[in-house]
Amino acid sequence: MFHITDCRKYRRCPRLFALEFNAEKREFQPFVRLDEEVSDLVIRKLKIKDYYRGMRGDPAENAAAASENYDWLVKARFEYGGLRIKVPFLHRAEEGWELYFLFIGLYPHGDDPQYYCNTVWVLEHLGFQITDARIIHLNASYVRGDELDPDEMFVISDSFYNGNNNPTQPVMDLIRKRMQDPTETIAAMEKCLKSEAPLPVRTSACSARVRCRYYEDCFGKQTEEEDNSITTLSASRFKYDMKKEGRKYLRNADVDRIEGLRMQYAQILADRKDGIFADRLALRSWLDRISFPVTFLDFEWERFAIPPYKGMKPFDVMPFEYSIHIMEADRSLTHKVYLSVHDDRRDLAENLIRDIPKTGSVIAYNAEGAEKIRIREFVDLYDDLAADLLRINERMEDLQLPFESGTVYDTRMRGTWSLKTIMGMMDEEGYENLDIAQGMDAVFEWRHLDTSDASEEEKQKIIENLKKYCGMDTYAMTVVFEWLITLADESPLG
Ligand code: SF4
Repeated sequence: MFHITDCRKYRRCPRLFALEFNAEKREFQPFVRLDEEVSDLVIRKLKIKDYYRGMRGDPAENAAAASENYDWLVKARFEYGGLRIKVPFLHRAEEGWELYFLFIGLYPHGDDPQYYCNTVWVLEHLGFQITDARIIHLNASYVRGDELDPDEMFVISDSFYNGNNNPTQPVMDLIRKRMQDPTETIAAMEKCLKSEAPLPVRTSACSARVRCRYYEDCFGKQTEEEDNSITTLSASRFKYDMKKEGRKYLRNADVDRIEGLRMQYAQILADRKDGIFADRLALRSWLDRISFPVTFLDFEWERFAIPPYKGMKPFDVMPFEYSIHIMEADRSLTHKVYLSVHDDRRDLAENLIRDIPKTGSVIAYNAEGAEKIRIREFVDLYDDLAADLLRINERMEDLQLPFESGTVYDTRMRGTWSLKTIMGMMDEEGYENLDIAQGMDAVFEWRHLDTSDASEEEKQKIIENLKKYCGMDTYAMTVVFEWLITLADESPLG
């Protein structure tokens, strides 16, 4: 018996499906926090009083039998033709049954039509006549008050949304247009499991959105490629073709077949020199904008699908930690860190204003995509702190800029420019020995502080590790900043 998620994996890649099907099931760690039982909130939205509720592992007959006695079925499990489905909400209507899908997001775009089609296919083959299908999703403009208000927080839509988030194709239309009999796919999936997992074939599915977890199993560790391998050429469509032709290294790239990005030229030039390229003029001009004392800033935050605190919207972000390293002109460093377990955003913002010196530059890594946005969110929340917060943003520079713009490239970066990669090139102790060494790990650990029954001692350990991790991010920035000064050949900072 397969689930719809198995079909989704098979469509993405038969090998992925086979490997996952036989792998030990892992605990799923969502990137977005979801503490509430969403179905219960939707039950309130739909004002359902009497209903049958399915459970994981239920025999499929239970839901079929319940459909005789109940007008509402919630999370009911059904099976047909080798496919098992979980139906979020099914409601008896005059002429048949109305189906409600649940989308924990703001605007369902109907990206996975076969999920919707397969659900209807199973139900209709079991004799449920589906007269309508709707989709329940979160309301982007809902702002939480003291209590959650499911009536306001959810939207029931007849249609999917387009790229501009305007309603477009009706849900039932898409289902009827895209309906396919999954029997052949299910037979192919069964066959696929009877022999060895198919051989790997590199496609866009291998690195779509998030890189496939089997990438290294399939294609070997990237580290087996040399640092200056042509395969590290950034955003290149033809790098594998060039490799096949024997153009093994960046320096051998065919310049007529590169996209012409500054980063690509930086990579090729780095390999033609001694592994490093620096556009010293551009680098100096960036460094000229920096003044001491320099504050290196990093936030950690959590994102909540359902707003847990007053004033928050669905998918709002809640910063819970910051680290700052302050570097004086004599290169001495001071470190400060703030960490809270619950919603202490106001206190965090006030401390931030106090901790950051009133003069000098503020530097963050990916400032435009993260720290500046977090500060603007605080500005929206706290009118009385807005002026001080905006002054911090006005002084903020992005340490990622010299790397992402191709001003500086070292072949040891291997085509990426994350802070961890660059710190890994330095002759310094970095992230290797930390118990928490990734941003999402920090978030997962932080969740234990107020949701698990961890002992006080364990919580203290988590707090210590979180402080070390965030502190390492700002320390790494100081190291990388010093390296850039050295690269620029002279300190332009006076
Ligand atoms: S890396 Fe590519 S070929 Fe390998 S399992 Fe994943 S998607 Fe399939």
